[in-house]
Amino acid sequence: LTKKVEMTNWEKGHFINYGKMHENLQIVRSRLNRPLTYAEKILYSHLDDPHGQDIERGKSYLKLRPDRVACQDATAQMAILQFMSAGMPSVATPSTVHCDHLIEAQIGGEKDLERAYNINKEVYDFLSTSCAKYNIGFWKPGSGIIHQIILENYAFPGGLMIGTDSHTPNAGGLGMAAIGVGGADAVDVMANLPWELKAPKVIGVKLTGKMGAWTTPKDIILKVAGILTVKGGTGAIIEYHGEGVNNLSCTGMATICNMGAEIGATTSVFPFNDRMYDYLAATKRTAIGDFAREYAAGLREDEGAEYDELIEIDLNELEPHINGPFTPDLATPISKFKEAVKANNWPVDLKVGLIGSCTNSSYEDMSRAASIAQDALDHGVKSKAVFTVTPGSEQIRATIERDGQLKTLEDFGGMVLANACGPCIGQWDRRDVKKGEPNSIISSYNRNFTGRNDANPATHAFVASPDLVVAMSLAGTLDFNPLVDTLKDKDGNDFQLKAPGGAGLPANGYDPGQDTYQAPPEDRAQLNVAVSPTSDRLQLLEPFNAWDGKDALDLPILIKAQGKTTTDHISMAGPWLKYRGHLDNISNNMLIGAINSANGEANKVKNFTTGETDAVPATARDYKKKGIRWVVIGDWNYGEGSSREHAALEPRHLGGLAIITRSFARIHETNLKKQGMLPLTFSNPEDYDKIQPADKVDLLCTELAVGKPMTLRVHPEKGGDTFDVSLSHTFNEGQMEWFKFGSALNMMAKKNAA
Ligand code: SF4
Repeated sequence: LTKKVEMTNWEKGHFINYGKMHENLQIVRSRLNRPLTYAEKILYSHLDDPHGQDIERGKSYLKLRPDRVACQDATAQMAILQFMSAGMPSVATPSTVHCDHLIEAQIGGEKDLERAYNINKEVYDFLSTSCAKYNIGFWKPGSGIIHQIILENYAFPGGLMIGTDSHTPNAGGLGMAAIGVGGADAVDVMANLPWELKAPKVIGVKLTGKMGAWTTPKDIILKVAGILTVKGGTGAIIEYHGEGVNNLSCTGMATICNMGAEIGATTSVFPFNDRMYDYLAATKRTAIGDFAREYAAGLREDEGAEYDELIEIDLNELEPHINGPFTPDLATPISKFKEAVKANNWPVDLKVGLIGSCTNSSYEDMSRAASIAQDALDHGVKSKAVFTVTPGSEQIRATIERDGQLKTLEDFGGMVLANACGPCIGQWDRRDVKKGEPNSIISSYNRNFTGRNDANPATHAFVASPDLVVAMSLAGTLDFNPLVDTLKDKDGNDFQLKAPGGAGLPANGYDPGQDTYQAPPEDRAQLNVAVSPTSDRLQLLEPFNAWDGKDALDLPILIKAQGKTTTDHISMAGPWLKYRGHLDNISNNMLIGAINSANGEANKVKNFTTGETDAVPATARDYKKKGIRWVVIGDWNYGEGSSREHAALEPRHLGGLAIITRSFARIHETNLKKQGMLPLTFSNPEDYDKIQPADKVDLLCTELAVGKPMTLRVHPEKGGDTFDVSLSHTFNEGQMEWFKFGSALNMMAKKNAA
């Protein structure tokens, strides 16, 4: 294993180092002396200090050296702004930036892209110049969605990557441990600091058998989501294994890993197999495939490896599923779906079907979708619902254009959107229904939280395989099961759809389409990155204040949030995406989606200094102006959803000190720590109920110590007796420094300067 193979065709001098990984693993093996899961092998072979590192799943914090960093345009702005404040000439770890999130779907691909170029010029210019300056590969608007581009060009078996997007785990389809993080973590790795991750537990999913004609890899993850729920994967890597794995395409495995984010998993991985080799070969990386074959024993679980939890799925028995509405873990098999629609009174008319996105836009997905569409066209019928197609990358778009699937989908009634996130992230100028009108849509995307796609809280969004999306769009109703029901052809005769079919990989190879990549130049010293001081989209960062070393007394509760509080509730996406590079402006969306337990409403809280009810951000600003720090009380799994660190930066910027919840989603918890905030949990979750929104609290910050609880002293508003509540936290020594310095970045800049 002495040979060197380049990590990607797009860069020179960055090699896959299976030899070194093997050495590291031998060191860890001799210490642990037990069989390892594949997920463990990837992580432990990337340890910064394999000799000295404590290793206990679910307990230790691993210090890791990722191979790569990937950022999408919405998160890259803040990541690069932060990297700039660390004062380094170029990134220390190979990195790429992908322009995909800021393109709004309105009238179709090319026009929408042109509009996006105009609207976002300032941001694209900032990203393209800063990428050139700091030696970062830049994928221009129109190139495609980050996870698709990574799979096509950068992912490799056994690799470790972090990405500033929750669906980074998509690369697990190529056997890579790819983990979604906040921009602040990306900055660490770009700046050559080891990256810290709590050693995940490993949940095994054993697949046996072979899927039926209408079942797809998507249905595996829809089923797993139903079993594990949105919290079930928290703190764990989901590791697929078993002979059933070999019956899945590489891109299908990527779909499964992608949606592992919906169950809160740290990431998901598949072991290296021939299907991955085929995909590597099809994407011009045969040398990587051959190298991986040499190291194959390191790229799968050991015989007898133990999982913290084991789920078994017999693919022979697995039905297609539809998950939703409003949450991705409400899983219903297609045979029960009609009943569920009726029983729950979900709007039965299907208004829109959307296929594609980073989750499901592979050649296989598009080919199967097109086969159903063609079947419909052969019967003289088309989509009844509005139907959109989002290719995941320029390469996919160009290839399905060349091979005819795109035309079939257009003939079927499809509007082809830009190779970008579009409606998946709320970048959708939807016009077919009014705000507030209950309606149903179905997509092959991954997420379906309230309001995510079209900002209409009455939209019932379902997720399913592209096959089902096409079939249901054709029927125009949720009341349809393509496996058994018939439709009317153009003459009114009944027909049943044929089972979908289509090639996994293009027989004639991929067509790269337009050149959408900007490599960083050799000579970068003279390049300038300009940020206009008058810009309302970009703002250089000011360091936060360090901790004053004291307990914090008499703090108001800005809001006691009840129920689901996702990062979409804390820092809404959609129209706010444009302020991702401007902390002060984007802070005007802070917590505007969270439900106030005092009144059951969003964005209405009482300002205790004035007695007035006002918006959450306005109230926080008022407190900040008056020098009053504040806390938020939150419910279970607070901050689930995405990795955006704005959800942590905003409360910090507007004067928050602590977020106190029943539990946290992992990425958000770390993000809060990085920004110098205190994410704390009730040691006894029932204490959540003891606190009233208008109470005041003392937070005994001087008690902060590793593994020790901290006291919250509650002064009830209604004049009752003061009482204490115990709070837990997951700070380790290093992370406590972040709190003390005011943020991780403050600490880094001080250390770089020293
Ligand atoms: Fe884009 Fe949606 Fe994929 Fe996120 S989940 S990268 S928003 S397509």
